[in-house]
Amino acid sequence: MALVNENFLSLASGYLFPEIARRTKAWQERNLGEKVLRLGIGNTTEAITPHIAKAMHDKIDLLSDRTTYTGYGDEQGDTALRKALRDFYHKQYGVELEDTDFFISDGAKSDAANIQELFSSSMIVAVQDPAYPVYVDSNVVGGRSTGFNGTNYDGFVYLESNSENGFIPDVPAQKVDLIYLCFPNNPTGAVINHAQLKKFVDYALENKAIIIYDAAYTDYIREPGYVRTIYEIEGAKRCAIEINSFSKNAGFTGVRLGWAIVPESLESENGGPGTIHRLWNRRQCTFFNGASNIAQAGGLAALSEKGREECKGLVDYYLGNADIIKKGLESVGLTCYGGVNSPYIWARCPCGLSSWDFFDFLLEHAHVVVTPGSGFGPAGEGYVRVSSYGHREDIIKAVEAIKEHIND
Ligand code: PLP
Repeated sequence: MALVNENFLSLASGYLFPEIARRTKAWQERNLGEKVLRLGIGNTTEAITPHIAKAMHDKIDLLSDRTTYTGYGDEQGDTALRKALRDFYHKQYGVELEDTDFFISDGAKSDAANIQELFSSSMIVAVQDPAYPVYVDSNVVGGRSTGFNGTNYDGFVYLESNSENGFIPDVPAQKVDLIYLCFPNNPTGAVINHAQLKKFVDYALENKAIIIYDAAYTDYIREPGYVRTIYEIEGAKRCAIEINSFSKNAGFTGVRLGWAIVPESLESENGGPGTIHRLWNRRQCTFFNGASNIAQAGGLAALSEKGREECKGLVDYYLGNADIIKKGLESVGLTCYGGVNSPYIWARCPCGLSSWDFFDFLLEHAHVVVTPGSGFGPAGEGYVRVSSYGHREDIIKAVEAIKEHIND
């Protein structure tokens, strides 16, 4: 008889987005013909830009001709794209990495979920609370929790991010082995400065821990003084893996393309320098057949001067939406965080409402869908995440509806 992997059974049921979809569908069935305005999921809405789209069209033309057709590429990714990323990190951030440190993937979510496979199931995991759910869920499946206790998972160390600490948690008070950090943060919109992140890098080096740094929103940082890649911090190449993506800057949420940086110089307690890098290479070669060559052609174009300009335009658009949302919500007295160097606004629920109560209120009265903060971890209770991904006209309508109905 086949037995299922019991770690999967430890996952708490009712993943956030299906529950939002269920409540929204139920509301629509009760309110036939009414339009719902969605500021919930972080899904891009604007078209892929001309230079990047053309590069993908050109690649399709090459694939359509047997003399220029290519099949499988390197599992680690296209050499030209890896070199372009290396040059980009040098030019944009002043950071020196090897092209072989870059592993191209089908997106940051897969890498964020898969990277834990490299580590022993006995590792103690620390996560920001609230956090993007995949860090926790993948480690539950990896057998690093003894189960869900109704609030959070036993065995994990939750680094509370709240308004008192500016949503930048302190380093763990105890010894942990893996630390997941995400800046600009989903869901709080917080950004981290060099002194704050240095504390984590110093902690990791002292405790022989590894930081998994999710920088998927780094292109949204427009103010100086914030970290754009963890490798800006001295010593990070010995203790940090970074994951990133073309989803939120080039609009590749559906195209699917990302990368992980696993430096050769990364250290592990039982492996020495090079082991983690080698094992990730082994993992990708065994379980992954490389990212789409069409997507990679688009990624290469996105890193060109013209492509960067276009991506900046796209990010500017979403930041413009974020500004409208933040100002609109604040104008009716809601306390908001984020939304400046980030596409997400983290809004405190008024009148002591819980996250789901405020979600239901906004759906019922303003016909607007947001994301309940409690879905990102216990410290998200009492907040909702408002996403700036949407057409400008819909964003304006949604903000006006919230302003009109907030005092219902
Ligand atoms: N990391 C964070 C923090 C995210 O918010 C998201 C998507 O919303 C991802 C990763 C996933 O990115 P990708 O589309 O590259 O899988």
